[in-house]
Amino acid sequence: MTFSTRQLVDWDRRHVWHPFTQMQDWLAQEPLIIERGEGNYLIDTEGRRYLDGVSSLWCNVHGHRKKELDEALREQCERIAHSTMLGLANVPATVLAKQLADIAPRSLQRVFYSDAGATAVEIALKLALQYWSLRGEEQRTRFVSLTEAYHGDTLGAVGVGYSDTFHHFYRPVLRPSRQIKPPHYFRWVEGQDPDRALRSAIADAEQVLDACGAVTAAIIVEPLMQGAAGMWAQPIGYLPAIEALARRHGTLLICDEVATGFGRTGEMFAVQHENIQPDMLCLGKGITGGYLPLAATLVSEKLFAQFLAPYEEFQAFFHGHTYTGNPLAAAVAVANLELFEREKIIERVQRRAAHLAELAQLHFAPLDHTGDIRQWGLMMGVELVRDRRRRTPYDPAERIGSRIIDEARRHGLVIRPLGNVIILMPPLSIEEVELETLVATTAGAIRTITEGT
Ligand code: PMP
Repeated sequence: MTFSTRQLVDWDRRHVWHPFTQMQDWLAQEPLIIERGEGNYLIDTEGRRYLDGVSSLWCNVHGHRKKELDEALREQCERIAHSTMLGLANVPATVLAKQLADIAPRSLQRVFYSDAGATAVEIALKLALQYWSLRGEEQRTRFVSLTEAYHGDTLGAVGVGYSDTFHHFYRPVLRPSRQIKPPHYFRWVEGQDPDRALRSAIADAEQVLDACGAVTAAIIVEPLMQGAAGMWAQPIGYLPAIEALARRHGTLLICDEVATGFGRTGEMFAVQHENIQPDMLCLGKGITGGYLPLAATLVSEKLFAQFLAPYEEFQAFFHGHTYTGNPLAAAVAVANLELFEREKIIERVQRRAAHLAELAQLHFAPLDHTGDIRQWGLMMGVELVRDRRRRTPYDPAERIGSRIIDEARRHGLVIRPLGNVIILMPPLSIEEVELETLVATTAGAIRTITEGT
């Protein structure tokens, strides 16, 4: 099956609608069409190579064409590609559930599968609502989430990640959550020093929960790093305070580790930096090493037990997707976890993260328009501002972020901005010299585009 680049470009322009994309802009540009991958590089239909600076949207772990993952997929193909989990079990999904329970916080021993980060979140929200109803606490129907939270694009997930700019179209059918301001908000928007920002954020959460704790089904947070907000980092100390608040108000704590899970922050899960024991943990993206769509909602036994009842009482969790627990995806996920252990990925991430921090000081910090550098492990956001001292943001019409990534692409690097924040989130397999290339090329692109602005 070979098609010319021209043919593909033509079909893409005529038939494809790209996600999160203003298609008017897309149609005016020449699309980059990826044909192959090799290690930490993407290769286009013309054979040009690009360093994958955002892990193919934050999911790739061991690079592309990883031998062990390719083999796991091939071997599972020789057994079965798919069979349903409604009324049946399958081998890889069962093994994976056991392995996830082994590596997760000890409160979480039960795994409910789905196929995207958003569905893992939907499941957590629905489980929380049903749990409280089954316990006779029907008043607990509200959710509390962080300002600028992102939990996926299905309607339930948008309710807890509500942003008026993007979501007002759906407002009539949504029930936005009560929002609490994260420490980043106080530090960056209000210019407080880090200690005071942390205290302000905790006080804000206390105030909101004092007002609505009794009707709150769950608090949902992206632990340590709010990725899609533009890498809003939380300092150590924030999560334990939120966990304590959840306990004090008798509400559930859902941690969404779709982005932070599987090593990105320098521990297998971000909650493990502070020994948090959530009631539910949402996983996706890196669970298959970035190979296949698979997600999981890990649940505490206490919550699970509430759903056990005679059939005719209809207390089961009536939720499932056709491809729930897909054996191909689960087999790759099992191989992914084996690699974490065999290749000591977490230690490697910690080393690389320290190197990334040094490189950022060297290349980003001196730039005139670097406002803030935020990092947890191999997740980094570099916020660009028009005026550094006053923290004046660039006007969205200047499209500073997208111009920078276009420039980086001309130099063989694929990255993606979030507004005026340049995101670096390479595969965990990135080599030292590749990390240097990633940072130096990004800094060069920032300099070229922001000089004279
Ligand atoms: N939660 C978080 C924290 C995320 O970062 C994302 C995706 N970026 C999602 C949920 C949604 O995942 P998916 O795109 O797989 O639906």
